[in-house]
Amino acid sequence: MTARGVVVVGAGLTAAVLAETLRNEGWTGPVTIVGAEPHRPYERPVLSKGYLLGNEPRDAAFVHPPEWYPDHDVDLRTGVRVVAVDRVAAEAVLDDGTRLPYDDLVLATGASPRRLDVPGADLPGVRYLRRIEDADRLLAAFGDARRLAVVGGGWIGLEVTAAARAAGLDVTVLEAGDLPLGRVLGPEMARVFVDLHREHGVDVRTGVQVRAIEADGGRRVAGVRLGDGSLVPADLVVVGIGAVPETGLAEQAGLEVRGGVVVDEHLRTADPRILAAGDVALAPRPALGGRALRVEHWANARRHGELAARTIMGADAVDERLPYFYTDQYDLGMEYVGYAEPEGPEAYDEVAVRGDLGRRELIAFWLREGRAVAGMNVNVWDVTEDIEALIRAGGGPDDREWPVP
Ligand code: NAP
Repeated sequence: MTARGVVVVGAGLTAAVLAETLRNEGWTGPVTIVGAEPHRPYERPVLSKGYLLGNEPRDAAFVHPPEWYPDHDVDLRTGVRVVAVDRVAAEAVLDDGTRLPYDDLVLATGASPRRLDVPGADLPGVRYLRRIEDADRLLAAFGDARRLAVVGGGWIGLEVTAAARAAGLDVTVLEAGDLPLGRVLGPEMARVFVDLHREHGVDVRTGVQVRAIEADGGRRVAGVRLGDGSLVPADLVVVGIGAVPETGLAEQAGLEVRGGVVVDEHLRTADPRILAAGDVALAPRPALGGRALRVEHWANARRHGELAARTIMGADAVDERLPYFYTDQYDLGMEYVGYAEPEGPEAYDEVAVRGDLGRRELIAFWLREGRAVAGMNVNVWDVTEDIEALIRAGGGPDDREWPVP
């Protein structure tokens, strides 16, 4: 019997971790990763944090050194795109005409930035941050620009804002909602971030509508026109208004897509030879009672890489952990574990804070009927596992002592 071949579509973090897990666990069959970008797999957190701050080298983003792939007999094909999946022949069709046979195919196609759809959004000074070249260009633009307008007060928007302030730019954040991060954290903890940015001199505006990006005579960005007619002067604009999963191949292949590629808790689609993993996968979360979620954070990309590898190897594995993400902005570092919804039938009913909110050294617990459903440690470290254990046990914040001031 010949060894089964794995083809991974998308050369991001999920693909790299998947290949690493397969090889670490003794998989000897062919592994091919196909990526449209010209780079070997890289991670994104450093792009909006250390690299953009000038604190970390560009190379810190890459998951493995170049020689790792040949050394581990992983066929990494970059700068080439999978344009179709032929499920009958079990072949991935590349844009250079090559047909790659697979026994297991993993769709790890990720997501792309949601585009701002207003007049002037195509001006050269309007930027997004997703790929490594975006970070290169943004870092260079920080050297020339004086005034940055950030459209969208999400994770990209706020991390870019912190880096831009460190580079000495004036920054205005233009958030459509009531509060930046409000939809994720709810008002109580979103305010911590608003206060943080305002204390660092950022003009944070909420409930605003971006009507157009305006230019001077030379197509240089001059400012952002808002719904109320006012102009926010800016010579650089960064848009961070969310991401759209890359589901096109799955749709074309006739797989179920519901705002993400539908998979089971082992990451299999309805076609047992095709998995989806990472940002693109709408996967049931055993730790959340089987609720299906698409998660676009770094930890999920890693965990899905591991899980997809184990599923391919025949293990009956699932990811039992709770969602996790982190951010660093100025002197604030935080980690979040769990899942709390600010609105809807499952919404939390209270936020309990232990520690010092004024000094921003705290743990916040989102509670539903007295039980923690999520926790966030801010400038308090080595507690995430304990918070996760508390949530799993259905406990409340005072069930244990916390190392807070
Ligand atoms: P995001 O976190 O979803 O934030 C988008 C923000 O833009 C939201 O606050 C949203 O408000 C707002 N918005 C949407 N449309 C708008 C408009 N037309 N004008 C003004 N504001 C608008 O998305 P992101 O920051 O673009 O990041 C992209 C993905 O990368 C996300 O999945 C994010 O989680 C991930 N990421 C994660 C990290 C981290 O974990 N530290 C860092 C960077 C990126 P509403 O919520 O009210 O719609």
